Amino acid sequence: MGTIDATAWVERFLVAAEAHRAQLGDLDRQAGDGDFGTNLETSLRRAREELSGAGGQAPFAALSTAFLNTGGTSGPLYGMWFRALAQAADAGPLDARALGTAVAAGTDAVCRLGGAAVGDKTMVDAMRPAADALLAASEAGEDVARALAAAATAARRGADATAAMLARRGRSSYVGEVARGVLDPGAVTVAIFFEAAPGPDGGAEG
Ligand code: ADP
Ligand code: MG
Repeated sequence: MGTIDATAWVERFLVAAEAHRAQLGDLDRQAGDGDFGTNLETSLRRAREELSGAGGQAPFAALSTAFLNTGGTSGPLYGMWFRALAQAADAGPLDARALGTAVAAGTDAVCRLGGAAVGDKTMVDAMRPAADALLAASEAGEDVARALAAAATAARRGADATAAMLARRGRSSYVGEVARGVLDPGAVTVAIFFEAAPGPDGGAEG
């Protein structure tokens, strides 16, 4: 049912995340403590180093190591989430089912570690719908490109929904109503990740 090119995906994500980094940092300045952009910058740079260095790591493993070693709340949580993808990539071809299972397991780990649930205005608000969309597409027998397109739509919808939420986790929970109307940068980054997945022709999706 098709498998995904993890290298192309991660390279496209690094470019897209860099392009949106300032904007994501502004969101954390409006509703958090403002360090998200610099944390992300550090993670992206480390990921590039991991990918290009001697004995360079596999793409998702490189992302996982880079984020795990970065400060802030988001770094270690993304690191754990990408680790689930890295383990799935090691175990076999990344078809829709393998991806759905891995994204669900990674999201479970993020919820366990961070204590957030859907609706708390965090990265989980994009991760969980993406996992559900991947599993539903896999159940429906769809190929990996279509499954990822559905995941990207679901993640973006979930990220958009965080604007209306009041934060119950993380630094933005300290600012109360000030965070209302502001998108959660952690959730938007997850949408950017799925939107960076290569389409059926290896190009852009959606
Ligand atoms: P910090 O909150 O420590 O300043 P960052 O600025 O690096 O961390 O990351 C903020 C992002 O982390 C938020 O946008 C949100 O998506 C995510 N986040 C914060 N706390 C949690 C949590 N407990 N569980 C899941 N995600 C969280
Ligand atoms: Mg912050």
